[in-house]
Amino acid sequence: MAITPYLPVYRRTGIKMVRGEGSYLIDESGKRYLDFASGIAVNAFGHSHPHLVEALREQAGKLWHCSNQYTTDELERFSQRLVDATFADSVFFCSSGAEAVEAGMKFMRRYHYETGAAHRHRIITFEGGFHGRTYGGISAGGNDSARAGFGQLLNGFDRVPFNDLAAVEQAITANTAGILIEPIQGEGGVRAADLDFLRGLRALADQHGLLLMCDEVQCGYGRPGSMYAFERAGITPDIVSSAKGIGGGFPLGATLVTERVGAVIPAGSHGSTYGSNPLAMAVGNAVLDLLLADGVLTHVQEMGTRLVEGLRAMDTALVKDVRGVGLMVGLEPTGNAREIAAKLLERGLTTSPTVTNVLRLVPPLNVSEAEIDEALSHLAAVLKE
Ligand code: PLP
Repeated sequence: MAITPYLPVYRRTGIKMVRGEGSYLIDESGKRYLDFASGIAVNAFGHSHPHLVEALREQAGKLWHCSNQYTTDELERFSQRLVDATFADSVFFCSSGAEAVEAGMKFMRRYHYETGAAHRHRIITFEGGFHGRTYGGISAGGNDSARAGFGQLLNGFDRVPFNDLAAVEQAITANTAGILIEPIQGEGGVRAADLDFLRGLRALADQHGLLLMCDEVQCGYGRPGSMYAFERAGITPDIVSSAKGIGGGFPLGATLVTERVGAVIPAGSHGSTYGSNPLAMAVGNAVLDLLLADGVLTHVQEMGTRLVEGLRAMDTALVKDVRGVGLMVGLEPTGNAREIAAKLLERGLTTSPTVTNVLRLVPPLNVSEAEIDEALSHLAAVLKE
């Protein structure tokens, strides 16, 4: 097997990227790619956004890092603004989605331990779910290939079919700590949970004294046309893991909790060296400035509708299904999504195929109408081929 100095765990295309400008990536030959993969739903406001570049540049000249023994203006400001803008009463910061999920699962168990129910340690998760690549993440997730070869996993997970409330109810025992769900499965193929199903999960959690955790690492933070996807169901979770778009490309993760949970998590019980790193906090604040600006969420809804309607209007037997919420859109082809993605890349459009043969389209939240139309014309041409 060929080896590279960087471990070959990814299927790389061989294309070398050198720059990003707005919704475009530019490779070493100068070829431009309209970026509808966004680093897998990460570059929430595209590449090199001047407000984000300036925030990082300014913070880089002030303070890069200090220990979590200290607070900083950036941490105080970002956490307060997240608390003000969301359901959360308190936030734990880390550097990636998997860590944000891991923290949330630990807080779920620790909550019961601290409230006199240490036997409640099992977590109900869902088929098709993806929660990152740590042992906790692959143990919770629904993808067998992510677990293969890694030996003894974390125990305590009960996996049930997605959108099946009766199955969840049946899986609840005296040892259940909570439920972990992606309100819109990303890797699972852009599959949204039914809103009544989400409401049912909240009701079951309340009835049985469980915590409800939403993994919104991929589907949250403006992408669904609301701050978080669970809001569409009118429910309030107890814990939310957030990452990807929250840093707009800077490594940043966050675990948001309500007071009920946050109040019982003791000092010393969890941590991360880079959690609340001032560079990350400064960029987080700058991304939030852009996200909270007037009209952004409406723009996401409108652009999402334009993309989905454009895809549905394509008269081709090659499309099995088109689905989406806001700017999280999936096209299920009758053919091979990876082959279609490769052809689109040749034409200059990046997309992100999921493990479930769905072509995922997750453009920046500030994508323009003209860019949506450009993507549609690439897609129409490739599907016609
Ligand atoms: N949770 C969900 C829903 C994800 O989609 C991902 C990544 O794709 C993760 C967790 C893990 O995030 P990261 O790769 O930043 O660790």
